[in-house]
Amino acid sequence: MLEHGVTPSSAHYEVWLEYQLGRNAALKAAIDARKQAGAGLGDEFTAQMHEQHFGNASATAQIVITSERLARDLNQVVSFLQQAEEKSGDYGRKLESAATNLNRGLDSEQIRQIVSSLAAATLDMANHNQHLNDQLSRSTREIETLRTSLESVRVESLTDALTGLSNRRMFDETLRMRIDEARAQKAPLCLVLCDIDYFKRFNDTWGHHTGDQILRFLAGAMQAHARPDFLVARYGGEEFAMIMPRVDVHAAAKIAETMREAIQAKRLRRRSTNEDLGQVTVSLGVAQLTPSDTPQGLIERSDACLYSSKRGGRNRVTTDVAPVLYVA
Ligand code: GH3
Ligand code: MG
Ligand code: MG
Repeated sequence: MLEHGVTPSSAHYEVWLEYQLGRNAALKAAIDARKQAGAGLGDEFTAQMHEQHFGNASATAQIVITSERLARDLNQVVSFLQQAEEKSGDYGRKLESAATNLNRGLDSEQIRQIVSSLAAATLDMANHNQHLNDQLSRSTREIETLRTSLESVRVESLTDALTGLSNRRMFDETLRMRIDEARAQKAPLCLVLCDIDYFKRFNDTWGHHTGDQILRFLAGAMQAHARPDFLVARYGGEEFAMIMPRVDVHAAAKIAETMREAIQAKRLRRRSTNEDLGQVTVSLGVAQLTPSDTPQGLIERSDACLYSSKRGGRNRVTTDVAPVLYVA
């Protein structure tokens, strides 16, 4: 940051730390491209990167505040340690000078004086150590609290508030990571996209609030069919996605089909009035990663399958190997 004249603010640190960690491929690519172009990497560019890649304003604000407190606490620990170093340096010099004097053959009064000044210095050092220990354990506790709160802010920034599923940002990051992993392991990877059928009509009939209840029901239904290594995300308004590592398209289609049946089989009731809401159905599209796929390419193929489920009459699963595998 110094090299490129970037002011060391928390937001700027967030950008460059993320770049250094290399976890956010889009951010890394954008910065590398800018570097290659030989254009400046200063404050304006860094702020722009922050805006683009850390858009979640409230979570970001909390991260900034917590990071600043963490930085302050760490600075304090560093200053405690510097004091301790100076103090033990002083004490060492006193010991050295006492040793030199004792070698000179002193009378008993002089020895008594040296011993008494050494005792005072040792007591002072012990007190200081005790004080330092107390300060350090206070700082350690505070840093631990901040670390936990940073972690919960991070989780919050990756979670969809309505359904509790992962949000789009977490989906994008996970998909990129899973694609790299699938290539490295030469393992299959599937993406399922799921969209509620005629949801607008449902909302118009029963109201947005009951619509939200359906979104939560679907989130639960999808999560119930996911293996622990799958990621279920709310991809958009009434669209959900499931990333399935180490699963081929046939197995993925089976899971999607079981899910579709379970959703269709559920008789839904309006929570507030207990009215019968009938059934909700979903259309699904399943695609398997190909060697040349980008994340966007895989999403587009899943989406094309989803679209063909809709066109084919809804409430069905379509994969990109056989145009229509299952029909309700
Ligand atoms: P199709 O079968 O073709 O998917 O029809 P549809 O009506 O489901 O699709 P359309 O895209 O026309 O409508 C999607 C609706 O999803 C529109 C909007 O009211 C609803 N929706 C999106 N987000 C939310 C949300 O957070 N809560 C609620 N209750 N409804 C939402
Ligand atoms: Mg839709
Ligand atoms: Mg829909």
